[in-house]
Amino acid sequence: MKRAHNFNAGPSALPIEVLNRAQKELLNYKGTGMSIMELSHRSKEYDEVHEKAITYLRTLLRVPDNYHVLFLQGGASLQFSMIPLNFLSSTSSAEYVLTGVWSEKALEEAEKVGKASVVTSSKHTNYNYIPDFSENQVSKDSAYVHLTSNNTIFGTQWSTYPEITKAPLIADMSSDILSREINIDQFSLLYAGAQKNLGPSGVTVVILKDELLQKANPNLPTMLDYNTYVNSNSLYNTPPTFSIYMLSLVLEWVLEQGGVPAIEATNNKKAALLYDCIDSSDGFYNAHAKPGSRSTMNVVFTLPSDELTKQFLEKSNELGFVGLNGHRSVGGCRASIYNAVPYESCEELVDFMKSFKSEN
Ligand SMILES: *Cc1c(COP(=O)(O)O)cnc(C)c1O
Repeated sequence: MKRAHNFNAGPSALPIEVLNRAQKELLNYKGTGMSIMELSHRSKEYDEVHEKAITYLRTLLRVPDNYHVLFLQGGASLQFSMIPLNFLSSTSSAEYVLTGVWSEKALEEAEKVGKASVVTSSKHTNYNYIPDFSENQVSKDSAYVHLTSNNTIFGTQWSTYPEITKAPLIADMSSDILSREINIDQFSLLYAGAQKNLGPSGVTVVILKDELLQKANPNLPTMLDYNTYVNSNSLYNTPPTFSIYMLSLVLEWVLEQGGVPAIEATNNKKAALLYDCIDSSDGFYNAHAKPGSRSTMNVVFTLPSDELTKQFLEKSNELGFVGLNGHRSVGGCRASIYNAVPYESCEELVDFMKSFKSEN
């Protein structure tokens, strides 16, 4: 069977090893005579999966003991609302760094809850870079500062994160969690929908510092209150058991690859291959993101005309490349090269890009 060269932005590629393992275990999970989807979320078999996923995340991301690792539903989008609901009070204001569509959406939700402002933005250049941002731009009554680590649509990524001590730093890491080493201590909360780097859709990972949890609004509806998830080990109600099972397999796969440092090295090589091809194309291909702000996860590029873009996408499709069309807010093309996209797929894409250029 031929697998697609999957460059989808999300949901996106999963490691073939993980899919094979899930297939093997599907009808009879560990001798139970049932699939993992059919087991009680209170069973010992499921509990083992749940704990494994938490332990692997703690190990891979070196999560300190004073942080909670939580599983929620509702995607990153629900976090856009839960964060201000829990941490924005009537006397404080939240500050948002605008680096793309997802930051805008996060801000909009905060504005529905309370006071929120933009500390800095790269909107005026269609989000093609990560603006300078440092501690002295943070106001003293700031409830928290929110940033988007990797801008999935515009192909930009923070190369280093700001050191913020005046206010809790919160990051949407949906599209680059586990792609490179990070220092959890810099953040009070980070979150990611699973469907880019962690597994299938359905589960959202939240890593929350206990110190910030202590400040959470205690009067929220149960399912919107982080305390509910902390106090029940994310088992207050039925969690998305199959998604968490798949997450545990993906995390195990990352460990087998050599952990985050090894994944990061491969990711850097994959991204370099594509950006080198773009940069050495004499302007035939152009990267949307400025050097210094370029994402190692989403390579966004344009061709000289709409007609050539259309031909490029058609031809690439015929050859088995999937998901290369860009988002409507940038146009052009986007190759999403998350952890599970093999280096070989990137090599084949570069070969195709070179031959398409020479034919045109
Ligand atoms: C995909 C994505 C989202 C939206 O995630 P959902 O899980 O669909 O709500 C939010 N932020 C970023 C950075 C994303 O890439």
